Amino acid sequence: MRLAAQRLAGLWPWLFTAVLQVALGHAGLEAAATRALIKVTLLNSKATVSPFTLEGVFAGSSNGFAEGKLMQSHPLSLCNTSEDERQESFFISIVKLESPESKVPQCLPLLEKARLALNRGAQAVIFDITDDLNAAVELNSGILKKPVVMVKAGVAEELMGLVNKNEEAKVEINIMMETPKWTHYEVGILLTVVSVVLAIIMIFAFRSRCRSNRTWDSVHQQTMRAISRLETRTYSSQGCSGGSHHSRGGRGSNSSSSSGPMCAICLEEFLDGQDLRIISCAHEFHKECVDPWLLQHRTCPLCMHNIMGSEEESGV
Ligand SMILES: [Zn+2]
Ligand SMILES: [Zn+2]
Repeated sequence: MRLAAQRLAGLWPWLFTAVLQVALGHAGLEAAATRALIKVTLLNSKATVSPFTLEGVFAGSSNGFAEGKLMQSHPLSLCNTSEDERQESFFISIVKLESPESKVPQCLPLLEKARLALNRGAQAVIFDITDDLNAAVELNSGILKKPVVMVKAGVAEELMGLVNKNEEAKVEINIMMETPKWTHYEVGILLTVVSVVLAIIMIFAFRSRCRSNRTWDSVHQQTMRAISRLETRTYSSQGCSGGSHHSRGGRGSNSSSSSGPMCAICLEEFLDGQDLRIISCAHEFHKECVDPWLLQHRTCPLCMHNIMGSEEESGV
């Protein structure tokens, strides 16, 4: 039982770090903008290629669901508002933004381009902002009716690669809600597990402590009872006191010519009126000298006679 408790106690630091990691990881995720889950399904490839998911970030408050075929739009094609190039009803535009240093003339503000693409029937617009990271600021500043997702680096390369290879791909965009939700859930589970384990450890510790207290108490009580059963008497130099009938000058006399019975513990002679304890082995001591000793050792300090003998035999 105790071993189990110790093992559980060993688990505690591990659980604690796990909870901490999940909690910190979760805080880190929440600091970021709303993440977009981009699920890509290749339409005309062999069946062996299973759909895969990529990650982007929604611009501003444009969070939402969208699906459609992935279609590339050139930034310049989003310049002429009059030109109506409706292609398909369900498509998602991907636009690779040029670096601002490339001096490509900006016909329209980026937000307008996004709105134009959406007006032309795109279900959503994906902007590759790898070369123009400032685009995020501009796209975040406006209100967009449909999802606008920003991707960069590896994710952007992968999507652009599909477009450049003329792969037909269906894209589903969704708000990445699951992760934070599940993290909350996991934190809850972990905290519950930790508190249950902690409670079990505490119950074990409490119970074992109670048990040891109980055994100590019972030994203590038995000793007290054994001591209380031992005889006592009041010393009198006149009476029969251990065979000595020594008459003494007076109380507290410390004369060196002592021959009266004395206490083997404090090495003082017994004086009239002092309480003596008589142990079952017939040895006598000052009551106040021998009682604390008996309580601790349960034996006669002279002959080691065990005062608990009768107690243990009686099976208490
Ligand atoms: Zn004494
Ligand atoms: Zn004795």
